[in-house]
Amino acid sequence: DTLGLADPSLLTGSGFVDGMRFKGDRLFRVANPATGALLAEVADMGVPELRSAIDAAHAARKAWAARTAKDRAAILRRWHDGILANREDLARILTAEMGKPLAEARGEIAYGAAYVEWFAEEARRVYGDTIPGHMPDKRIIVLKQPVGVVGAITPWNFPNAMLARKIAPALAAGCTVVARPSEFTPLSALALGVLAERAGVPAGVLNIVPGLDAAGMGAELCANPKVAKISFTGSTRVGRILMRQGAETIKKLSLELGGNAPFIVFDDADLDAAVDGAMAAKFRNAGQTCICANRIYVQAGLHDAFVEKLAARVAALTVGEGQAEGVAIGPLINRAALAKVEDHIADARIHGATIATGGTRHALGGTFFQPTVLSGMTQAMKIAREETFGPVAPVWRFETEDEVVALANASEFGLAGYFYARDISRVWRVAEALEVGMVGVNTGLISTEVAPFGGIKQSGLGREGSHYGIEDYLDIKYMCLSV
Ligand code: ADP
Repeated sequence: DTLGLADPSLLTGSGFVDGMRFKGDRLFRVANPATGALLAEVADMGVPELRSAIDAAHAARKAWAARTAKDRAAILRRWHDGILANREDLARILTAEMGKPLAEARGEIAYGAAYVEWFAEEARRVYGDTIPGHMPDKRIIVLKQPVGVVGAITPWNFPNAMLARKIAPALAAGCTVVARPSEFTPLSALALGVLAERAGVPAGVLNIVPGLDAAGMGAELCANPKVAKISFTGSTRVGRILMRQGAETIKKLSLELGGNAPFIVFDDADLDAAVDGAMAAKFRNAGQTCICANRIYVQAGLHDAFVEKLAARVAALTVGEGQAEGVAIGPLINRAALAKVEDHIADARIHGATIATGGTRHALGGTFFQPTVLSGMTQAMKIAREETFGPVAPVWRFETEDEVVALANASEFGLAGYFYARDISRVWRVAEALEVGMVGVNTGLISTEVAPFGGIKQSGLGREGSHYGIEDYLDIKYMCLSV
């Protein structure tokens, strides 16, 4: 075991259905994006295996929902403790399959575990309601009940946390889950499954089904009448497909889709704090997060100083394999990601952008790319409309608040937005005016299990985390009692 795991049994290529490991004879390879080295051969489960998993989740759902919330909470709490006890191993698996620096992977494991802890606590706070009756003999009660079987589809950029924050609220609410992790990063998901089983999650309550047939498996989850809800994190393109396919059986949907986050620096901002915030909001995970700052707008008075300071900080970032000490930027996930970054930069240059630092592939080769700052950006460029999902910070110059709010909102996406300002009236005005589900004011880091994460416009439906998060996994039923 080249990863040096304390517990090598956490690295498994077996799927997990109805409490049993599934390997089969169709396998696919998972490799380290930094080196191309083979990490594991993983069970390539297809639609028939997925159907068995759905059947198992469906059969397990009544007994799981019938347990007390306290009982479900205790199991989630044990799962949380197991995740943290194995944090280092989970982080190594994550970095190996996905590429992010080990320090960020450790952070992701803690972040994912925090959702499990949070929803272990929320399980016992699913309160209903009583409503004064509309007639003297009527009593009205509102019950909350689990929606049933949840199909969870997750991406590669947070292979642990994106799954933890779907499974935890689902299980807390009394739902059962069939999860299909990204084919690029199934190992973190399968390790979570091993720990869930050790924590006492009963057979069938959590099923993890890795496989290459993303479209076929997605279609089955949408069409299968035993599945009540789809919870998806990924691109807006695939979100649309799932919504269309789910229409036939009226699936409930939670969709965390793409973003194109504006990051605005007003003249009254603290310049150094704004540069710190931009570094955090842009370069975490090499720019491969859906809430990464994608469009940086700086007001004329601070523009030149901001570009200079940002470029100096970015030029000093260390690029390398995630396992290595001091690395801030790992490889991109694959060649397609690299090609998109190069395309966005080439397009910006054709339309007149200037490279302040970076701009080309890194000397390490592979999918390593130099962290980049562009200035002289205009609305004609692709980056104005599309998520780059890479280590590229494009800077626009603007003059007025009205102008920048209009620019920021000129997007089909509405996930996160950030701005730096000190005038309190402006802070309120701009926070209210930005068409996003989450806004960071004088901060570039907004993700936490205690807050509702999610978007508006074509960035999705529903919220994850906070006391709102569990509602996505509950139906309400109103009971009218005649006394
Ligand atoms: P990203 O750009 O983050 O990879 P995708 O939307 O392509 O976003 O992928 C997110 C997840 O959706 C991955 O697990 C991927 O395998 C899966 N996926 C891709 N295409 C489909 C589809 N047609 N139906 C269901 N899931 C899909």
